[in-house]
Amino acid sequence: MGRQVNLSNNSSQLESVTETQVQCNRCGVCCRKGGPAFHLADKELLEKGLIQTANVYTIRKGEPIYDNVKDTTTTAETDIIKIKGSENSWACFYLNSEDNSCQVYETRPLECRSLKCWDTRDIENVYRVDRLERRDLVSGVEGLWQFIEDHQQDCSYQKISQLLESGQGKLEGEAKETVLEMIKYDLAVRPMIIKQGQLDPNLIDFLLGRPLIETIGLFGLDIQKKGNSYIFKTRKQAPYV
Ligand code: SF4
Repeated sequence: MGRQVNLSNNSSQLESVTETQVQCNRCGVCCRKGGPAFHLADKELLEKGLIQTANVYTIRKGEPIYDNVKDTTTTAETDIIKIKGSENSWACFYLNSEDNSCQVYETRPLECRSLKCWDTRDIENVYRVDRLERRDLVSGVEGLWQFIEDHQQDCSYQKISQLLESGQGKLEGEAKETVLEMIKYDLAVRPMIIKQGQLDPNLIDFLLGRPLIETIGLFGLDIQKKGNSYIFKTRKQAPYV
């Protein structure tokens, strides 16, 4: 299902907010809109395993996003590391859907601590500041960081944007081949790095961002793999997946 990628789990249009609300009533609306993005203040949570790195993913620099605080579409200026959704929904992985409780409440990230749906000033002050990036967590791991940087360059969202811009929104000929090569490379390196590094496969969307064959939809393109072939379509409107 197409969904907007929220920069934080904040929304200024939360249905449950009343003018008189002054505390969280645990309706779960915020947490169902998506998990929080991490900031430098949250680094320890991941380093100490209080929040599992296998449960987060990276929105890579240049990736199209919807800024729900500013109500506009834009591109990520840096990595944005977020908690994954759960069971094919955008609801935060750590939300207990039975009672709307947070399974990591005592160690919940900064954005969750800052979010008061009845007064969004705190979250607006922090949501774009000091975002945690992959380099903050893995730049010291020999070989891995270089691999991530190479992947970022070889599967560059900025490059895709430029190709689309010069093709006035379409990819033809060489530009189309370039993007297809990026997608093939991205698909190929994922299992390779897991095998070589003997990594938990659940870490891959943190290390390399989400698969390009999925996020390409953010550019209004639809590319599907059928056997060894790729079917290339242009969507009328770029959805947010
Ligand atoms: S970490 Fe906890 S408070 Fe934050 S969005 Fe997830 S369930 Fe909600």
